[in-house]
Parts: sequence; C-alpha cells; structure tokens
Amino acid sequence: MNLYREHGVVLPTWKRGEADRIAVLLTQGEGKVRAVAKGVRKTKSRFGGRLEPFSHVDLSLYRGRELDIVTQVEVINPFRTLREDYDRVVAGTAMLEAVDQVAQEREGAIRLYLLLVRALRALDGAPRDPSVVLDAFLLKLMALEGYRPALAECAGCGQQAALRCFSIARGGGLCERCRSGEESTLDQGTMPLLAALLGDDLDTSAAATPPPGSRREAGALIRGYVEYHLERRLRSYPLVAR
Ligand SMILES: [Zn+2]
Repeated sequence: MNLYREHGVVLPTWKRGEADRIAVLLTQGEGKVRAVAKGVRKTKSRFGGRLEPFSHVDLSLYRGRELDIVTQVEVINPFRTLREDYDRVVAGTAMLEAVDQVAQEREGAIRLYLLLVRALRALDGAPRDPSVVLDAFLLKLMALEGYRPALAECAGCGQQAALRCFSIARGGGLCERCRSGEESTLDQGTMPLLAALLGDDLDTSAAATPPPGSRREAGALIRGYVEYHLERRLRSYPLVAR
C-alpha cells in the first residue's frame, strides 16, 4: 500500500523552499516517519498550521523513497495550553528531542507513541511543575528502551537494602557494600523520588511538588542517565526551570 493513514505526534519541523514544510513524526504503526507537506506555507493551504511540533494528528501519507508525502492532516489535539506556557514548551521540547533519538524509522512504536501522548496531555493539563513531568517521562522512556534503573534493590548485588547513592554506569542505586566511594551520598528523599517518578502514572507526577533538594539531585541523575544511554546531550534539558 502506497497510501496509508496513521496517528502521530509531530516532532521537529523545518521549512523547505518557498512553501513546503518537512516534518518528523512519531507514528503508532510506522515509528518515526519523515514527511513533506507541499504548499503548507501558502495562505490557502489545507494544512495551515496543523503540522507544528507537539500536535497530535491523524494523517494520510504516500510512501516515498526519502520522504513520505502528506496528503491530509486532521488535528486530534493541538495541546494549545502547553504551547502558551514557556516552561511547558521547553519541557515538551526535551521530550520530543529524546523521542526523536530513540525512535526507529519504519518500526511500529505503539508504546512509545502512547507514552508521549500521555506525557503531552499531562503537560497540557495543569502540571504543578513541568520539570517533574519531564523527569517522570524520561525515566519511563528509559525503562521502555530496556534501561530500567534499579531503584528498589542494589544495582550491584541485587539485595533489597538502603540505597543512598546512584551509579549511572552501573544502572541504579548502590548499597553501602557495593558503592565504590566515588558516588556521592544522596539526600534521603532522592531514591524514593526516583522510584515514584518511574512507578507513578504521569498524572500523579503532574500533581506532585517534591522537595527542592531531592528534585535537584534527581534531575541531575536523570539527565546524566539519559545522556549516558542516548550517547548524546539533551539540548533542551538545561533550559527547563527547576
Ligand atoms: Zn549491593
């Protein structure tokens, strides 16, 4: 089938020539898709501003060799409230950036797609602190990609124990016997916070206001952990207010 229909979320977009827009999308069934919407930047275009980052869309595409061609776009959810708030936009941009990194082209990504849509909905709602939603999303994304950090049992020996330090390279918290001495001792609330961010649903994280000390430590660990596994920097992450 050369023509197909998909639900997707618009990741980055950029202009091409006078009137075209190229968009990267995360779709349910085809994974990451690169597509061109021709003539979208003309005032009478049928697509108007529908292919903007964050938009949750229903679209029809023609399969192409390098780029698929968008023939129709309907917006399922524009996430308008998210777009109107700077802190939510930067947190959401960091999410799109991470998804763009992990998604594979032409490989179904239903769980990734659902996780992203849920996280954008949580940001579009009334999150107490968008950075908490971002951090919860990133930990869930790591777990989905096969890098679930050990937070309840020691990443070294597997024992249930008090974990007061975290090793990015070893994949989680470490007990007193397994720590090498290089890891700094964490605030008492940090490991429980990491466990809550990973285990709770995104709406719970959107309503949470964890204490600032644990927030800072957890944020730094999550950023380091994600960048270690993605093998690249998350450019938007430092712009997120905490
Ligand atoms: Zn241990």
